[in-house]
Amino acid sequence: MGLEEKLPSGFLLTTVEKLVGYARANSLWPATFGLACCAIEMMAVGGGRYDIARFGMERFSATPRQADLMIVAGRVSQKMGPVLRQIYDQMPEPKWVIAMGACASSGGMFNNYAIVQGVDHLVPVDIYLPGCPPRPEQLLDAILKLHQQIKDTKLGVQREQQLIDFERERRTMLPLASAPGSAELPR
Ligand code: SF4
Repeated sequence: MGLEEKLPSGFLLTTVEKLVGYARANSLWPATFGLACCAIEMMAVGGGRYDIARFGMERFSATPRQADLMIVAGRVSQKMGPVLRQIYDQMPEPKWVIAMGACASSGGMFNNYAIVQGVDHLVPVDIYLPGCPPRPEQLLDAILKLHQQIKDTKLGVQREQQLIDFERERRTMLPLASAPGSAELPR
């Protein structure tokens, strides 16, 4: 992600990490990107009842170059896949993705050749939000969880170890975690 990759480890980096995480988590701008019925629920969070403006996120950016959060709200068709990826590529680093709803997370009820069976086939997903559709409160909850995730993200050399730890933790949650050889994960 640029300069932070060159940062040394140590006490000073921990302080910088906290500052950077706090600043990043509280300055998210979503890209304007709605694909199907879930997008209606996403739009509802902009109203006074749910008030996404409390996070300073009411500005849904019309250009991906001024957005760092993609909320994939709705099913992704095979035709839309390359467009979604292009928008993601045009967003500046660091950037995050929320897969909103069953369709974006896994294809939902559309188990057919026309729909991408989960947007993680196209872009890396940070938060999966279940539901059909998820209510606006659930989206706000997902945003709060993403905030915490961003605040906990390490920088520089410590980031690599953090990713390895995440991967190890994730594998232990798999049903085959008790299979022979599954414990032999890299340190
Ligand atoms: S999860 Fe349900 S509400 Fe959301 S896009 Fe799919 S069908 Fe529509």
